[in-house]
Amino acid sequence: MTATAPSGETLWSRCGGCAALLYRKRLRRNLDVCPECGLHARLAAPERIDQLVDSGSFRTLPERAVAVDPIGFVDVLPYPHRLAAARADTGLPEAVLCGTAAIGGSRCALAVMDFRFLGGSLGSAVGELITRTAEQASAAGVPLVLVTASGGARMQEGALSLMQMATVSQAMAELREVGLLTVSVLTDPTYGGVAASFATSADLVLAESGARMGFAGPRVIRQVTGRDLPEGFQTAEFLLRHGQVDMVVPRHALRARLATLLAATGTGRRATKRSGVDAPPPETARPVELSRTPVRDAWETVRLARHPGRPTTLDYLETTFDGFTELHGDRLGGDCPAVVGGLARLDGRHLMVIGHQKGHSTAELAARNFGMATPAGHRKALRLMRLAARLGLPVVTLVDTPGADPGVEAEEHGQAAAIAENILTMSVLPTPVVTVVTGEGGSGGALALAVADRVLMLQHAVYSVISPEGCAAILWPGRTAAPRAARALRLTAPDLCRLGIVDEVVPEPDGSAADDPEATARAVRQALLANLLPLLEVPAVTLVQRRRRRFRRFGAARAGARAGTR
Ligand SMILES: [Zn+2]
Repeated sequence: MTATAPSGETLWSRCGGCAALLYRKRLRRNLDVCPECGLHARLAAPERIDQLVDSGSFRTLPERAVAVDPIGFVDVLPYPHRLAAARADTGLPEAVLCGTAAIGGSRCALAVMDFRFLGGSLGSAVGELITRTAEQASAAGVPLVLVTASGGARMQEGALSLMQMATVSQAMAELREVGLLTVSVLTDPTYGGVAASFATSADLVLAESGARMGFAGPRVIRQVTGRDLPEGFQTAEFLLRHGQVDMVVPRHALRARLATLLAATGTGRRATKRSGVDAPPPETARPVELSRTPVRDAWETVRLARHPGRPTTLDYLETTFDGFTELHGDRLGGDCPAVVGGLARLDGRHLMVIGHQKGHSTAELAARNFGMATPAGHRKALRLMRLAARLGLPVVTLVDTPGADPGVEAEEHGQAAAIAENILTMSVLPTPVVTVVTGEGGSGGALALAVADRVLMLQHAVYSVISPEGCAAILWPGRTAAPRAARALRLTAPDLCRLGIVDEVVPEPDGSAADDPEATARAVRQALLANLLPLLEVPAVTLVQRRRRRFRRFGAARAGARAGTR
C-alpha cells in the first residue's frame, strides 16, 4: 500500500523487514534505516553520496559512460532496450556514479554503485568509470573510496564484463604501489565478480550493517550443495567472524568512520613526515622510576609477568595511545581474538598498533584464548603490518603471550608457516617497527610480532624460548624445577639487555605494572616516543639494513681456515 503525493513521491512506505508502515520523510531523515527494526533499505547512488560526503563537495567525474552492446545480446529483450529502460528508471547513465569529494575534510575519489541499474552489474562502462576514478585518485594523490552494490558481472556483455574485474584490479594495484589507501564499503548485496575483485581487494573493507557479500549467491550454493545454509550466512556479522571484513558499521556511523580512516591514512607516505612536523613535542612528564620492588629471582619475575592485573594491549590502547580504530580479520577465513590491531595515534602521530590480547578475568582470558594467537591471528598481524608499510605508517607491537596456539586446528591451518612468514616479512618491512614486551614473551609466538628496529621490555616482563615449566619438564627430573629453569633461561629484562636481545628496559612503578597501570602507561608512552621518533627520520632502506644487522649479530661462528684443505 502506498499513498502518492501530488509531486509523485510516495508519502508512506512499508518496511521490507518488519512490514511497519513508515512515513517517508521520517524514514529519509533516519537515512532509510527502519526506526522499528533497523533494516537498512537499499540506497540509490545519489542518496548514498549525499549521506557520505561533506555537503557540496562532490564533483562528478568528467568522463561519461558510453552505451555499448559488444556482443549483440538478446534475451527476451535486446540488451540496448534494457539499458535504455534502466537509464530512464534511475536517471543515471550507468550503474555507478563517480567523482571526487571530501569526507570529514579529507579529499578522496569516490565511486558508488547503484543496484537499481541492472542489479548494479559490472559491465564495460562501469569497469571503465571505476578505473578512471582510481586513476583520478592516483593523479590527485588521494585515497579511493568504493561503495559496492552489485549482483556481479553483467552477463549481457559476455566475457568482456569478466575482463572488467582485471581492469579495475590493476588500477587498485597501482594505488597500492604508490601507497594510497583504498577503502571499500560493502552494501547489500555485493556478489560475484564485484565481490571477487575490487570490493575485497581494497586495503580496508567495511561492511554496512545488513550487507551480505559472497562470491556465489545463496540460491546457487543451495542448488549445488543440496544443503541448508547456516543461520546468518554471508551477513556482515558472518563476514566479520570469518575474517573477511575489517568492521561492520551501521549507516549512521559510516560517514564519521570513513572520515577517521581517511584522516589517519589519507596522506599516504607523506603522513609520517608531515605529522612529525605538526605534532606537539613529546611530553616531558616526570619519568617513572624503576620499581624498587626487590625481585629476588627470575621465577618471581615470571609470576609478575603473568599477573592477571597487568595492563593488556587493549588497556594500553586506551591509555598510552589515542583514537584506536580496530581492524579485523586475516581475509582468509578467520579473525583471531588473541591478536588485536588497528590504527591509533601516539602523541598526535598516526601509526599501526598490533598486540596480543589476554584479559583480566577468566572469562575474558578464555574468550581471548589466553593471548595465544592462531594462524589467523598471525596473518591478521601480517596484513596490518604490510598495510602500515604501504601507507608509510610506523608499527608498534605489544607482546604478551604464553606462546602461539598449540592446538590441532592451528596445526591444520599452518601455524608454523604463519609464524615464519611474519618473521620473514618483518625483517624487510620498510617502515619503523618498535616492539614492547609488556608481559610474557613466549617463544616463536612472541617473535612473530617482535622482529623490530627497537625491542623494549617492561621491567618485570619475561622473554624466553620456552616456558620455565616446559624447560623443567624436559631437562630436569620432576616438575618442581620450574624456578630453577627460570633462573637458568636468563629471561628477565636486565639479562636480555645484557645479551643485546632487548634495547631498553621500561621501568614499572613500585610493586609492578598491575599496581599502577596509569604510571605504566605513561612509562610506555615515553619509552615509545623516545625510541620511535629518531626512527622516523631514517630512510626505509637504511632502516631495513640496520634491522637485519641487528638480528644478524646473534649468530655464533668464526671465520677461519676451511676444514680439510690441508
Ligand atoms: Zn522495519
